[in-house]
Amino acid sequence: MRHALLASLILAALPSFAAAQAFDSAALADAAKLRTQADSDSGAYGLVESLTTEVGPRMAGSPAFDRAVEWAQGKFKSLGYDRVYLEPVTYPVWRRGHERAEVLGPFPQRLIITALGGSVGTGGKPLDAEVVEFATLDALKAAPDGSLKGKIAYISNRMERFKDGHGYGPAVAARGGGANEASKKGAVAVVIRSIGTDSDRMPHTGMMRYAEGVAKIPAAALSNPDADLLSNMIRRGKPVKIRLDIDAGLDGQKSTYNVIGEIRGRELPDEVVVIGGHLDSWDLGTGAIDDGAGVAITMAAGALIGKLDRAPRRTIRVIAFANEEQGLFGGRAYAQAHAAQVDAHQVGAESDFGAGRIYAFSAGVDPAARATVDEIAKQLQPLGIEYRVDKGGAGPDIGPMAKLGMPWAQLAQDGTDYFDYHHTANDTLDKIEPKAMDQQAAAYAVFAYLSAESAADFGRSPNGEGQE
Ligand code: ZN
Ligand code: ZN
Repeated sequence: MRHALLASLILAALPSFAAAQAFDSAALADAAKLRTQADSDSGAYGLVESLTTEVGPRMAGSPAFDRAVEWAQGKFKSLGYDRVYLEPVTYPVWRRGHERAEVLGPFPQRLIITALGGSVGTGGKPLDAEVVEFATLDALKAAPDGSLKGKIAYISNRMERFKDGHGYGPAVAARGGGANEASKKGAVAVVIRSIGTDSDRMPHTGMMRYAEGVAKIPAAALSNPDADLLSNMIRRGKPVKIRLDIDAGLDGQKSTYNVIGEIRGRELPDEVVVIGGHLDSWDLGTGAIDDGAGVAITMAAGALIGKLDRAPRRTIRVIAFANEEQGLFGGRAYAQAHAAQVDAHQVGAESDFGAGRIYAFSAGVDPAARATVDEIAKQLQPLGIEYRVDKGGAGPDIGPMAKLGMPWAQLAQDGTDYFDYHHTANDTLDKIEPKAMDQQAAAYAVFAYLSAESAADFGRSPNGEGQE
């Protein structure tokens, strides 16, 4: 009787007991070892230095991207990954030729622009037209039909700076949808203020899209100072005429690859923890912060886990995704190829927000695995990372799998200056602080290792998706 009572008391206490024991002491010791090792010298900075120096800009579809695939395979192998393989990703190739702009009158001078990804050109000859300014995409949408016949629409909305980058979403709508809305009103081209927080004379490129049935017009971004200049001219009240000369357009299809490296799990090798970044970049800079850093951080984190004496229970799968920039092609191809294996994915996380230190951790997992995630958060705390329950979302290339139910985690990076350089010629290695790379690799190593080692299955993400 007494024993039965004791047993039921123990059983009643079991859930909290189990929570306290999410990981055994050997696992916690290995997590601490990873944290210390990575935080002192993870090798991540050396990887992004190598990628930006030896490959440089690597736009999807370009020969440089093929060299990046070679680079990633070589690095995975030399870092001691157990398995290195490729998965095909097919997409349309966009080609940038040249891009020039100038004010013809009333104040003739040059303007610094860049064509937006996906844009058509001006048809082999310069395009001269008057500019009409709109403060926002919504203001352009509200313009009467046909009111922009023969004119160039100019959207001057300015992106706001925040640590978590939330100024991007509202501003970037002008980049994605500006051409469609302008075309519907009869415009012959669209120019936008760069989606960026800097005041450098460097325009920010990035993807735009054409809707079905809308005439395709050229789309370009002005640097922030050039946008100011154009607005100042327009404010003087006389018609401002500019010349655009853009050579760009689609050029067939190409198949390239997601490059994948794995550290094989010791007990559940078919179950995986996915981490990664995207291997492609835009063509203007060397793709250091977007997203050489993410590839390097996750590659280095996986390599450190691979050097432990005891491999984690599940496999660590590091993915260098193809063509994120022009429409998540790598992430979507991965989700398509692995849709039947959602439940074999313990969790996924992508690093694609520059190279600033990680300051917050959050995860979308089955509520039953919450105690384990709480413990992982505790192990990230010494790196200066706070725990944010029920916040955040999956990284872009993780999004398609997260939508299918794969649990996700977010290691949020300080993006205060990310949009100063994002998609510009200024996205170069000098913007990366080597010690910040170590802190991030340490966080990814601890997170990925403990997720792979966990006795608890993370199940399915309750909301089924993250942000993109
Ligand atoms: Zn990116
Ligand atoms: Zn990008």
